[in-house]
Amino acid sequence: MEKMEKIDPVLSLHNDFTDTELGISLNLCYNCSTCSTICPVALETEGKFNPRSIILLANFDYEERLIVDLSPNVWDCTMCELCQEECPEGVNLHEIFLKIKNASASYHNIPKSYTSETNQVYLYGKAVPSQPVIDKRREQLGLPKSPSTDVDEIKKLMGMTPVEKILKEIDNLEKQAEEK
Ligand code: SF4
Ligand code: SF4
Repeated sequence: MEKMEKIDPVLSLHNDFTDTELGISLNLCYNCSTCSTICPVALETEGKFNPRSIILLANFDYEERLIVDLSPNVWDCTMCELCQEECPEGVNLHEIFLKIKNASASYHNIPKSYTSETNQVYLYGKAVPSQPVIDKRREQLGLPKSPSTDVDEIKKLMGMTPVEKILKEIDNLEKQAEEK
């Protein structure tokens, strides 16, 4: 997928963090590793994903690695907030990771699994659209029918955020790549 060559300064983490509550929170990290020893993703990946190293890179303005290269990949964070609850310095990891994700999304730099799922929600109002096989299974289990969703309302809501625009841009980029 096409990537932007250079980071737009508007999106730079440095600009976002300097002199803000979030930036002050970021600066409080003293590298104790509590977050990385408690993070379920870090445990599951045997340290390949490490929230402490993301905070460290954010603190030293390594935007390119975090936003463009996704190395380390902040999208591996499930946003469970466990790290934040246990951080002795009260670093707002959740909001910091969200900022990094939003910045990388602006560069269309989102793992495919996320865009596919978001697209399903946009198109069908559900991450897993209704299908006859699911309906049949629910019936066999004596469960009520899947509730219907107002897709137009969901599209309208998503259209009020950058999500709709980003999904369309990614779709166009993918089509262009297929045509090449
Ligand atoms: S737990 Fe908090 S202070 Fe410790 S490394 Fe993680 S972010 Fe930094
Ligand atoms: S919020 Fe992300 S980084 Fe923090 S513990 Fe949960 S998965 Fe790990």
